[in-house]
Amino acid sequence: MPVSMLIFSTMLFTSSQDGSMLAPAKSYHPQTVAIRHGHEPTFHQEHNEAIFMTSSFVFDNAAQAAARFNGAEEGNVYSRFTNPTVASFEHRLAAMEEGKYCVAMASGMAAISGVILTLLKAGDHIVTSSSLFGTSVSLFSKIFSRFGVETTFVNLSEPGEWRDAVQDNTRLFFLESPSNPLCEIADIQAIADIAHDSEALLMVDNAFCTPALQQPLKLGADIVVHSATKYLDGQGRCVGGAVVTNHKDIYQELIVMMRTSGPCLSPFNAWTFSNGLETLSMRMAQHSKNAFELARWLETHNSVKFVNYPGLKTHPQHELAAKQRNPMAGAYDDAGGFGGVVSFEVIGGQQQAWDVIDSTRILSITANLGDMKTTITHPATTTHGRLTQPQRDKARISNGLIRVAVGLEYIGDIISDLETGLNKIGLG
Ligand SMILES: *Cc1c(COP(=O)(O)O)cnc(C)c1O
Repeated sequence: MPVSMLIFSTMLFTSSQDGSMLAPAKSYHPQTVAIRHGHEPTFHQEHNEAIFMTSSFVFDNAAQAAARFNGAEEGNVYSRFTNPTVASFEHRLAAMEEGKYCVAMASGMAAISGVILTLLKAGDHIVTSSSLFGTSVSLFSKIFSRFGVETTFVNLSEPGEWRDAVQDNTRLFFLESPSNPLCEIADIQAIADIAHDSEALLMVDNAFCTPALQQPLKLGADIVVHSATKYLDGQGRCVGGAVVTNHKDIYQELIVMMRTSGPCLSPFNAWTFSNGLETLSMRMAQHSKNAFELARWLETHNSVKFVNYPGLKTHPQHELAAKQRNPMAGAYDDAGGFGGVVSFEVIGGQQQAWDVIDSTRILSITANLGDMKTTITHPATTTHGRLTQPQRDKARISNGLIRVAVGLEYIGDIISDLETGLNKIGLG
């Protein structure tokens, strides 16, 4: 009986009155939502979701085609507009963010650009922080600047700087928290309040935390963007992204932008992400536990100057990070829930950092993150390599800094893989 009710309720997901993707699942626990919501079986009664690998859809007759095209009849037309597999992913992710609307996109960068294409025009202004995913910095400073959209970069953790940066033409605030790679925390509610005082919107990139650990809409954000490529997939297979919001008007404009400019998500990738969402909470809890254990161990090593991890009591914004966590994160793991990314500075500089990286045997030397496989990166020469030295100094990306996106291997093996190189520094 409960199972049939679940199936019944998930089948209702397309027909809630305002197009909201949340309503039917609300009475279920988030973990049930992650597994059950958004799946609408076909007449074949398949248990796992089918993948609708089709670019277009067929009509019964010419009149139906006309009705679908002019919007008089709801239904699929073409997969740049809607696709059932993509819709399943959108409904599930929206429910997990406790947002009403979601639009899937071809990548995380497509999601961020899509929001800007939707909401801004020449002459508008963005406030964001310099602690941003590198490509997002380039998107604002190299691409959107050419279209007359101006951006001011402020300090992520100083709400006063956000307020001071507001201009008459400010339309959008954009932040990531925790930041990459230094794990600085933004006070999302305080920055949302400043945005709203200025009649601007706050967009939050939630790729690092995912809704399992942080739900920015509940902290005052208007829009959440995701690189689904990272933890939502969780196994490093597909590139994709999404936008989630509670504003119906923004959702409707986003759809028009998406259908017209074209960054739609592939059904295969959407299917992969929907399956990834089913295990997201458990994976994030374990990523967090492993990261916390690694961070605590690194703090005790003589070759390590300092460790950045929001779960450490020594992190200057530990309390704020804890306050902003999804309360459910604590339910899975009362020691953690602070995410899988740790960075630390070794004594010495670039050579010592490279030695630690090159001494690893199981960690993957790659800039990707959000994977079950632990990855290790030297930000100063890779992700932040194109910055000038003064820009790197300002961003506190030192030559001894190493970032580890902690995966789901056994934590003892991750630690001993790093220990090899760290012990060598002590000898040298
Ligand atoms: C990877 C990443 C992006 C870009 O996502 P893609 O899917 O690679 O386009 C944006 N923001 C953050 C925080 C990321 O880690």
